[in-house]
Amino acid sequence: MTSSAPVRVVWSREMLAYDFGHGHPMTSERLDLTIRLAEALGLLVGDDVELVGAEMASDALLQTVHTPAYVAAVHAASTDGTPDPVFGLGTSDDPVFPDMHEASARVVQGSVDSALAVWEGRALHAVNVTGGLHHAMPASASGFCVYNDAAVAIRALLEAGVQRVAYVDIDAHHGDGVQTVFWDDPRVLTVSVHETGQALFPGTGHARETGGPGAEGTAVNVALPSGTGDAGWLRALDAVVPAVVRAFDPDVLVTQHGCDTHLLDPLTHLRVSVDGQVLAAHLLHDLAHEVADGRWVALGGGGYAVVDVVPRSWTHLLGIATHHPVDPGTQIPDEWRSLVRERYGRLGPDLMTDGRDARFSPWSSGYDPGNDVDRSIRATRAAVFPSLGLDPDHD
Ligand SMILES: [Zn+2]
Ligand SMILES: [Zn+2]
Repeated sequence: MTSSAPVRVVWSREMLAYDFGHGHPMTSERLDLTIRLAEALGLLVGDDVELVGAEMASDALLQTVHTPAYVAAVHAASTDGTPDPVFGLGTSDDPVFPDMHEASARVVQGSVDSALAVWEGRALHAVNVTGGLHHAMPASASGFCVYNDAAVAIRALLEAGVQRVAYVDIDAHHGDGVQTVFWDDPRVLTVSVHETGQALFPGTGHARETGGPGAEGTAVNVALPSGTGDAGWLRALDAVVPAVVRAFDPDVLVTQHGCDTHLLDPLTHLRVSVDGQVLAAHLLHDLAHEVADGRWVALGGGGYAVVDVVPRSWTHLLGIATHHPVDPGTQIPDEWRSLVRERYGRLGPDLMTDGRDARFSPWSSGYDPGNDVDRSIRATRAAVFPSLGLDPDHD
């Protein structure tokens, strides 16, 4: 029924307003460069793609996840620029910027519209690279995130009658905000594969975090050692994500594609390539078709290698979601490279690949107790697989 529906891509120039200002890692230039690259490669035209902006989410919608006091504080900070550290506003991570409320509420509405369009069959898949703001908490801003668009979108799906939603977060940082919101809710599976909290913000996401009372087994965390590259990262995704998502049997799959796992990312210590990220996006796309009739909402997230990584990684994501995957060997169009030269005074990447073959050996090939990636995977499987009716030791 949905196969002829278009793929929805959330975008308008207004989305660039979510920007913490000069010198802050979360610059909206990352979004601008992404969309310009996708356009230059011809991905955002055609009958099968629908490019749509977003209105601002209402306060009532935001309050399905956030407290009224916090929403009021964001409004106030947005209007008069007053920092409010009680609510995480005006910190070095989350400085107040003009129209902060408006920009943040627009990101939320983009993800909510995407989720409902997919659920109602008006879109086959939907992508909001401006979203994935997974650290925002019910009562505070955190980690460059003001409102939690992913959590509000999942809440909107539940209110629309969806029985089960799976959320898979492959950002380098733990998806702590989304996990917190649905900790006690057995209808939402949150899965996060990230660099260990011992080395990276926000410090949580240990394998033993598996969900609250009545929702045991609906939080899944893989905490990987710093320095993990393609082979280990993909092995971890493959050893955990498909099994837990299949066991949960969701109606809709929501994914967060933070690309700060890359070896060039300035804020993290994983060593994944664009080629590894592409393989992960394929895996999640295939999984959505397998378990949820293709009902897939893909969100952006972190990613601070603004020129060298984010545009390529998310252009690939857009290509996969629109069923026009970009060949990794594709040359980056001159018009995009000229723009980079004008703005940054240097050349950007010239190919859509990092030249890695992003291979990994599957978990079924055996477990090496001397390997610290394998020990992390094993800890997650042991902690959570039994609650989902799965055997930690066998596939
Ligand atoms: Zn991140
Ligand atoms: Zn598809």
